[in-house]
Amino acid sequence: MRTLRDFGLELEPAPHSSAGKGFVVFPEDGADLIMLPYPGDSLGLSCEHAVIVSSLHEAVANEPGIDFMPGARVRTVEPFTRDGAVHSVTAGRTVGADGRSSVVRRSLGLSTSPKTCSLMVGILLEDVQLPVDGYGHMLCGGPGPILMYPLGGNRVRVLLDVPQERWARPDRVEVMASSCGALLPEALRPSFVQALRNGEFSVAANGVKPRISYGHPGRVLVGDAAGHYHPLTGVGMTLGFGDALELAESDDFNEFARGRVKATRAPEMLAIGVYEAFADRRDEAVVLRQAVYRSWRDAPAVRDRTTRLLACEDTSTVRLGFAFGLTVVRAILAVVRRSRDERAWPWARETLRSLVVRLWWLWRGFRLAYKARSAGGRGDERARRVLARALLVSMRSRTDETGLSADGSRVRAFTRE
Ligand SMILES: Cc1cc2nc3c(=O)[nH]c(=O)nc-3n(C[C@H](O)[C@H](O)[C@H](O)COP(=O)(O)OP(=O)(O)OC[C@H]3O[C@@H](n4cnc5c(N)ncnc54)[C@H](O)[C@@H]3O)c2cc1C
Repeated sequence: MRTLRDFGLELEPAPHSSAGKGFVVFPEDGADLIMLPYPGDSLGLSCEHAVIVSSLHEAVANEPGIDFMPGARVRTVEPFTRDGAVHSVTAGRTVGADGRSSVVRRSLGLSTSPKTCSLMVGILLEDVQLPVDGYGHMLCGGPGPILMYPLGGNRVRVLLDVPQERWARPDRVEVMASSCGALLPEALRPSFVQALRNGEFSVAANGVKPRISYGHPGRVLVGDAAGHYHPLTGVGMTLGFGDALELAESDDFNEFARGRVKATRAPEMLAIGVYEAFADRRDEAVVLRQAVYRSWRDAPAVRDRTTRLLACEDTSTVRLGFAFGLTVVRAILAVVRRSRDERAWPWARETLRSLVVRLWWLWRGFRLAYKARSAGGRGDERARRVLARALLVSMRSRTDETGLSADGSRVRAFTRE
């Protein structure tokens, strides 16, 4: 939001938008909710995707040095033919800001095949209010995390993260109505169930693709074309605007790429790790998640650090690594404490073993990803395969066959100020 404001783009007065003070988490253990306010008096914003896109289009169209061609499709980044003759346009630099299925990315020989980890079912509720005013809500304990954002004027956007196999079931609407409906605040439940039964929802595919390459000086990738993550942590737009700003300000591509690797490493790891910990129902993920809740509950400093990391204000991998290490230690101690009861030994042994195995693959996978990065993208698939052994939910190896795409009714929420 700060970047947009610096360019004279104000989204706050937009219709159906709402200022956000942070997040409130409702853990599945039913214990007290956890408030994660943004540090200081900074605010975020929740707003419909279409509103953000049209504001950006308007700003670009009004810029004198830009020829904006809405509706034009780029088919290939190669010499093109017209009337049987081959033509080409010469540009000093082509910037691929064309999203997850980027044509520019494909032209660099990098993979664009969609890898779907889950589906996002979006439902708009009217004449309802969230329990905690001004906060985004995250509910745990459903088939996947549930996000809820206020959109102003008593409208609330509900986003259900749903595993693909659950959505493939013929009774999916009733299953979602009962499993997710039971977690929603009572006041929202009737309109939620009715909207689902009336088919008033949209579905988008969630995917994860770590940033491996930014291209080369003549063909640069920014935003989702460079890499993308599950929207749970809402870092996508912050990283995309950061790419654009740094590219515009940098004279040297290599300096730009180095700067972005440094700035995006921590948000990337956080986005991947947080989704994994909150969406996975295996025992080792559950003990990690409970350790996160305990850390948030016990220490305001940890809550503060989490929101800074989520907002990409703190991009230190050392601090992120330290926080992750502490969480793992807390999780292991909790398992050890439970194993005082000898009936819990088999569970404790299996949980610790799975945790260690997954951490090992995670470490190896990130190392291979950084090697692939230094090699300009070579080895990308191998890194992905290794990471998939650690990230069992977010990096399922199945390729998306649903044909579902993100639609215009998505919520872009709480991009921090
Ligand atoms: C359900 C959902 C919820 C999300 N919520 C949040 C959130 O709360 N906060 C957040 O920060 N991020 C969120 N994200 C992520 C965020 O939407 C993306 O990170 C962001 O939109 C990336 O911007 P982009 O410009 O790189 O790509 P896109 O937004 O995908 O834009 C790419 C543009 O390029 C155009 N294009 C593509 N191919 C071609 C072509 N061949 N020719 C011409 N034009 C082309 C497209 O039409 C589009 O306009 C969410 C994503 C999803 C799916």
